[in-house]
Amino acid sequence: MYNAHFRCFRGCPGQWPLYDVIYTCPNCGGLLEVVHDTDALSDRSGAAWMRLFETRSGTTQFPYGSGVWRYKEWVAPDLRDENIVSTFEGNTNLFQAVRLGEQLGVPDLWVKQSGNSHTGSFKDLGMTVLVSVVKQMMEEGKPIQAVACASTGDTSAALAAYGATAGIPTIVFLPQGKVSRAQLIQPIANGATVLALDTDFDGCMRIVKEVTKDNTIYLANSMNSLRIEGQKTVGIEVVQQFDWAVPDWFVIPVGNLGNVSALGKGLLMMKELGIISKLPKIVAAQAEHANPFYQSYQQGFAEKIAINARSTLATAIRIGDPVSYEKAAATLQHFEGVVEQASEQELAEAAARADLTGLYTCPHTGVALAALTKLIDRGVIQSHERVVVISTAHGLKFTQFKVSYHDDELDDVAARYANPPIYLPADLDVVRKTLDRKLAR
Ligand SMILES: *Cc1c(COP(=O)(O)O)cnc(C)c1O
Ligand SMILES: [Zn+2]
Repeated sequence: MYNAHFRCFRGCPGQWPLYDVIYTCPNCGGLLEVVHDTDALSDRSGAAWMRLFETRSGTTQFPYGSGVWRYKEWVAPDLRDENIVSTFEGNTNLFQAVRLGEQLGVPDLWVKQSGNSHTGSFKDLGMTVLVSVVKQMMEEGKPIQAVACASTGDTSAALAAYGATAGIPTIVFLPQGKVSRAQLIQPIANGATVLALDTDFDGCMRIVKEVTKDNTIYLANSMNSLRIEGQKTVGIEVVQQFDWAVPDWFVIPVGNLGNVSALGKGLLMMKELGIISKLPKIVAAQAEHANPFYQSYQQGFAEKIAINARSTLATAIRIGDPVSYEKAAATLQHFEGVVEQASEQELAEAAARADLTGLYTCPHTGVALAALTKLIDRGVIQSHERVVVISTAHGLKFTQFKVSYHDDELDDVAARYANPPIYLPADLDVVRKTLDRKLAR
């Protein structure tokens, strides 16, 4: 009864089934988006949807216990349950960051721990949808042999894991030497074909687009708008976690700009279907070394800007030519959005400060927290407002970043919060004196 299909995001005529191998508009070459039949979905009231989603939360009845498939009718309504490839994604903790919030001047601060998931990043939310659709297409006889993506590390980890779960071959293109060790080993362990190319992310993206032109290899990058449908549940889940109350702000680190578009899409759908009546504001946070979206924002989104992204500690958002620019610009305009940037110093310091209050943040979450700090200082975000920072990956994927920070070995970063180990002889007297000095401070 419910259904969804692809349409051109720019509004060209035509629509296509989600189970067609198609990534961009055949007319204008722009991005597609998944459009839901909201008239059909309106057969339930907002209150009825809320009740349905609440009864599914935490259930073991497959697939509704997943934080994505709990919202199945809003995500991919005509996917058959037996084709769903799920790792019980979503359902991530909303960390109440009391001490950090007080330090920064926004006591009502929460961190959505999207990285506390199967492969350690929010990419799982989108990949469960994409790989499930692929499974259904293969079952229907489409000649797909493998699924491929270019990645700054986390997309490939998610693709490899979901592919392995379903028994579908995967191919990942990584920029050589530009992803963390943990991110590199994940697709290797999951049996993907790992191609480490001597280029950057944007270079990998150009190659994977060519390779997937032959429809036997399916493209899993976020240009593929199926992933957006899964990722859009993050905002819905946050609002549900607040008993359907909308926070004042979301702060989210952005690179290719798919995730911020997804966040906006989920929130808009909630408003359209009567679950919420106001919209939050959205802050998109970029690393200063990879800030094309920040530059476009400063020019009022007059045009898309593409740059050569420079090296940054926030490796997963080192993207100079963001694929989802048009969607993200529309989202920011709709949500009275702000784009802010963070230097290497600012992102590393923000991550270290957050860790000292019990979090364990990846550098991208550091970018978001640094942007938050700047916007509080400028009075854009006010002390009484409720703020949700989307943490995009688990800190454990970025051990080298943390080791280098606490060893004070990062270029361009003065590690003011470094907390290196104290090396001592095994001598009780020396230990006592050291502890006395430490605790006296
Ligand atoms: C992919 C990713 C991002 C950026 O998401 P986009 O959709 O590319 O904007 C941010 N942080 C982490 C950890 C990621 O893996
Ligand atoms: Zn078009």
